[in-house]
Amino acid sequence: MSDESRTNSKIVTAYRERTAKSRALAARARKLLPSGIVHDSRHLYPHPVYVNRADGSRKWDVDGNEYVDYYGGHGALLLGHCDPRVKEASHRQLELGTHYAACHELEIRWAELVQQLVPCAERVRFTSSGTEANLMALRLARAYTGKSKLVRFRGHFHGWQDHVTFGCDSHFDGTPTPGVLAEIADNVLIAPPDDLEATLALLASRDDIAAVILEPTGASFGWAPMSRDFVAALREATIERGIVLIFDEVVTGFRISPGGAQAHFAITPDLTSLAKILAGGLPGGAVVGRKEILDLLDFEQAERSGREKIQHQGTFNANPVSAATGIACLEIIADGEACATATAQAQRLQSMINPIFVEQAVPWAAFGDHSAVYFFTNPDAIDIDPMQFDASALDAKSLQTGGKHPAAGKFRLALMLNGVDISGRPGGSTSCKHSEQDLERTADAVREAIVMLKEEGELRY
Ligand code: PMP
Repeated sequence: MSDESRTNSKIVTAYRERTAKSRALAARARKLLPSGIVHDSRHLYPHPVYVNRADGSRKWDVDGNEYVDYYGGHGALLLGHCDPRVKEASHRQLELGTHYAACHELEIRWAELVQQLVPCAERVRFTSSGTEANLMALRLARAYTGKSKLVRFRGHFHGWQDHVTFGCDSHFDGTPTPGVLAEIADNVLIAPPDDLEATLALLASRDDIAAVILEPTGASFGWAPMSRDFVAALREATIERGIVLIFDEVVTGFRISPGGAQAHFAITPDLTSLAKILAGGLPGGAVVGRKEILDLLDFEQAERSGREKIQHQGTFNANPVSAATGIACLEIIADGEACATATAQAQRLQSMINPIFVEQAVPWAAFGDHSAVYFFTNPDAIDIDPMQFDASALDAKSLQTGGKHPAAGKFRLALMLNGVDISGRPGGSTSCKHSEQDLERTADAVREAIVMLKEEGELRY
């Protein structure tokens, strides 16, 4: 949001007035936390809202404002907030202890469910987050192949560790972001997600590649979609060349289908990183995959094969509360109904919003496969028909590197004024708890937000 558009904005003024308690908390937070926040995505002008309650598809801020929530615990809440069965499992386990510093049966049941649902999961190693799962996947791939290079795709997000923190929304040339060693960046090759030929040529051009990692439905859960054909070609090429293929299913896992993108596409990677839905709304992650590769973590197997075992610790790996919560969540998701409902609701919401863009003569579009709802805010005024919008037909770069209208931040504020919370992409995901009433309220909020932006002269097409 430019300085000019911040001043004299009715939207910003109304937001400030409606969120006075959040504003005070943000002022307090800025004295303690960099930018007053704990996750970069919460950065919002003039201040983020502070939430103190959530249930089902809704959440409430400290000023009592209600929101239909599409941020969904950053994608973790396929079952919505506070699903009674999941909540009860957490409560029960809290009573029994949060950390035994010992093995417990829940970790076995949790792994059994993961193995039952996720096709590649011959073995499971729990971590505490998606970032950690990807870090271990990379280490396993390097140890298994004895090679050093990691191939990643421009714009694909894999967490915040050193190997994957550049090339997502900046440093697309592969140069390291501050604090990352050049030597680490030198071992990462960034491939073009919209150019299969160039990617295959890269894989064929060298023999030091340990792994290829990708978000199997495209950058940021399909914000810039990747086709099944592309992924299938990668599977073929990596098998041919002995490269470990890693699906980062931190978002897609248990969401697109109970078995994630790999079950949906019927393409089985060597390794998969999981988190978010895995732990039912609590912290948790896992790297899963071929036994032969995860055997590098196994004391006995490593010794038998004459290889040095890979170290792995982690105080909160499969802690009993996350395990109990994850089990309850995965047991519900296993029949596929929650995934199907969330997908149906996202697609229905898009079909309600796009006619509003047509009616308002604004060349924006709501899009996204599966349970995603994203807003293409068309900063370059490309000639599009919102009803026929196909994100995969757009230059992936224009979606990834920018692709956001200068008023996108204000659009988000205007939606909040009308009772809807989305992420800054802008967009979000649905849960199986989003009702028809939620969708109608959201569509009305989009219309109202567009009218408000027009009144401020923000949408001159
Ligand atoms: N990979 C993907 C695809 C993600 O979306 C995320 C989180 N947004 C991560 C990895 C990192 O997971 P975590 O935040 O649990 O470290």
